[in-house]
Amino acid sequence: MDSSSLSQFLENTHLNSAEVKRRRLTLYFISYIGGIIMAVLAAKNLVRGDHFLAFWLGLFSFSVFANAALSHIFKNNNIFYYIAGCIVTAMVAVISVTGGYHDTGLHFVYPLILIQIIIVRFRAAIFYVTGTVGAVAFIVYHQESIPATYRAEDVSRFLIALGCFITVAFISEYFWHKSRKEMLTDNLEKLRQANSDPLTKVPNRRFLESVYFERAIKNPADYFPLSVVVVDIDYFKKINDNYGHDVGDRVLINVATLMKKAIRATDVVSRTGGEEFLILYPKTTLSMAVKLAEKIRVEIESSPFIEGDIHHPITASFGVATALTDANINATVKLADEHLYEAKGAGRNRVM
Ligand code: GH3
Ligand code: MG
Ligand code: MG
Repeated sequence: MDSSSLSQFLENTHLNSAEVKRRRLTLYFISYIGGIIMAVLAAKNLVRGDHFLAFWLGLFSFSVFANAALSHIFKNNNIFYYIAGCIVTAMVAVISVTGGYHDTGLHFVYPLILIQIIIVRFRAAIFYVTGTVGAVAFIVYHQESIPATYRAEDVSRFLIALGCFITVAFISEYFWHKSRKEMLTDNLEKLRQANSDPLTKVPNRRFLESVYFERAIKNPADYFPLSVVVVDIDYFKKINDNYGHDVGDRVLINVATLMKKAIRATDVVSRTGGEEFLILYPKTTLSMAVKLAEKIRVEIESSPFIEGDIHHPITASFGVATALTDANINATVKLADEHLYEAKGAGRNRVM
């Protein structure tokens, strides 16, 4: 896992969930309140004898409720925001054509446009609003073929005011999105730093415990069987003692890089201690993980550290264990640790 995929992993886990929630709650809130208001207006118009307007209000109320109800069922689908945006356009068109109550319907175009800007994402909202305003402008300038009648001076004032309103709404949305994005990027960078090791740039123990394992427990089907490989460089202290701490650091970087190259994109190499690493293989059985660990062991063994006059062989010992369910992640890490100590005891440079 490199730093950009680490960022992505963290973004999906922490930050995006807040934004998804915000949009969904906005959709529900506006749909239910709007649906109720339209149902009441439909009933009023029915009593008043305006069956045409009552029909349209009833239909919109129903479609808004149905759309919100479907979005409860298909939670991860964005289509409902766009459908809601289309319903708003249709509502604006019907209001402009019928004129609503005594041709006062155009007043409702303002809040409806604002709803459209909020519900549909910023860029898409530009197209939606352009389409909606285009439709209204077309309708109010072709009054000969619609039931509503608007005074010419009202029409021009309405369109100018609407234009100003939309400009202000978009400017405010733009800066809101911009500042939110800056804040998120900032937060994400802090989160990435807190979850990775500054020396080798791989994720750290905190990432495993507070992000990765939690994600695995939430989506067990994507992770289990989860194999854990604990890696500890052999006689690392000697490298520090013989060549100094800086050389030791570069050995750690080399070993981390080598392991990162040897894994799939879905696997994770993390540094859990001084010269100790932990590799996670999701959806991998124990026998498969042992083979993968053996492959890395051979690669480390065949890549001695070479720098100037230094030519130092590097080996590492490996402990492997597999969690079959989310209930025993901690026990599995412990077991892999025990296997590592067995590997050390058995002479090092081996997989246990
Ligand atoms: P074994 O084969 O039993 O694992 O022996 P070892 O020498 O590798 O293990 P030991 O735990 O005795 O020593 C680990 C050493 O790693 C001690 C510590 O100074 C060194 N170390 C820990 N963190 C770092 C680091 O960030 N950089 C460097 N250069 N050395 C580190
Ligand atoms: Mg060691
Ligand atoms: Mg150690």
